Amino acid sequence: MDGVKTDMKAGFVSLGCAKNLVDTEVMLGIMQSHGIKLTADPAEADILIVNTCAFITSAKEESITTILNLADYKDSGRCRSLIIAGCLGQRYRQELLDEMPEADAIIGTGAWNRIMEAIEQTLKGRRVVIIGDKDIIYDRKTPQASEMKSYTNCDSGLIYNSNTPRIRTTPNYTAYVKIAEGCDNRCAFCVIPLIRGRQISRPIEDICAEVTTLVSQGVKEINLIAQDTTNYGHDIYKTPSLVNLIKNLVKIDCDFWIRILYCYPRYFNDELIELIANEPKICKYVDLPLQHAHNDVLKRMHRPDTRESIEALLSKIRERIPGVAIRSTFIVGFPGETEEEFQTLKEFLQQQRLDHVGIFTFSREEDTAAYDLPDQIDEDIMQERYHELMSIQSLISQQINESLEGKTFNVLVENRDEEVQNIVAGRSYREAPEIDGQIYIEGDRQSKPGDIVKVKILTGFVYDLAAIKI
Ligand code: SF4
Repeated sequence: MDGVKTDMKAGFVSLGCAKNLVDTEVMLGIMQSHGIKLTADPAEADILIVNTCAFITSAKEESITTILNLADYKDSGRCRSLIIAGCLGQRYRQELLDEMPEADAIIGTGAWNRIMEAIEQTLKGRRVVIIGDKDIIYDRKTPQASEMKSYTNCDSGLIYNSNTPRIRTTPNYTAYVKIAEGCDNRCAFCVIPLIRGRQISRPIEDICAEVTTLVSQGVKEINLIAQDTTNYGHDIYKTPSLVNLIKNLVKIDCDFWIRILYCYPRYFNDELIELIANEPKICKYVDLPLQHAHNDVLKRMHRPDTRESIEALLSKIRERIPGVAIRSTFIVGFPGETEEEFQTLKEFLQQQRLDHVGIFTFSREEDTAAYDLPDQIDEDIMQERYHELMSIQSLISQQINESLEGKTFNVLVENRDEEVQNIVAGRSYREAPEIDGQIYIEGDRQSKPGDIVKVKILTGFVYDLAAIKI
């Protein structure tokens, strides 16, 4: 590659969700395969890359702040190339080019495989925008042409495979496996289909090949991710094929956990429930973003579910999978949300007593169906509703954790408490990485990250638990 020297170093910041993190990891793999060294210190990086998120306003703000912070290293550090990757680049390429002269390159969500081209061009002192298979190269002297507007948003779908170089950034005992990219649902509040395009699934054989490699490298927990994992495979097998995929994965001869994240109620069928109930490798953990519980709001959100169908699904899951942990997320302040509709959501949370819940305030995103809806809710009311639900849920979470006292679990050890040497922390099947609490195991001086140890729960707290090794 012209201009790319083997002693060059690249630094990276990965923002947003686990799906974006996988894109980061493959970009790291591609760069390393071209001889670029990776550094955690932005001051010594020749190339700095921010893999951005643009899902909601707060994520966009964090992305822009991070880009500006890293831009400082073009003056104070060795940085000669600042690259914006990911969703913010895909969604706002023109605005970024016009308003962020610090940025040397913008690559879309469907162009992570062309990271080396972006590096090569920027090291030659040019600016470049690469979206999907198209690109525009500028040299810094000529004013920017506005031809990018011609690009449609959907030329963005690209997914890696088991041969794509990848540098995993998660601890060695856990890994994310992206089984599909994009989404075919059209939730009214969501920009992801506009940014990531239509669903593209990886073949079952390819995913099995990757997982076989990962578990042979010592990975104990495989987290299956996509925008909608439950719709996996319908684009390539003409029918949702998550069950078929998992039936192949559990045949891999090794001890490891499979955790299914980002499920969609409509495709969460009996076959999947039976498989989770009967297959020891699969964590009895259901991640099911529901967004709301009032039928009128669900309708305005373009969600096909109803409160009745959701409640029926949840009780079937609990009946068939004893001890199952259920995670969900909800939006407060969706346009038109009346006090009565909010009360319905509150009641639903109090009745359903879910194990882990994330609450978001509605983010008005241009180009989504909800953007132009009437009766947008005031920020203060949204905050009020957010805090009300968070306090209800934290009490429920505490009570559920207290109800686990005396019970025993297998725990995947994650880290040792630096201060208190005889305490390690980890997760059971009930806690997903990064988003749920941990189990703190007292009096354990032997266990190390990646070990799976048996514990008895001593005390339940709001989000975490204390336990003793048995
Ligand atoms: S399922 Fe809905 S919320 Fe999730 S990525 Fe697709 S459109 Fe967005």
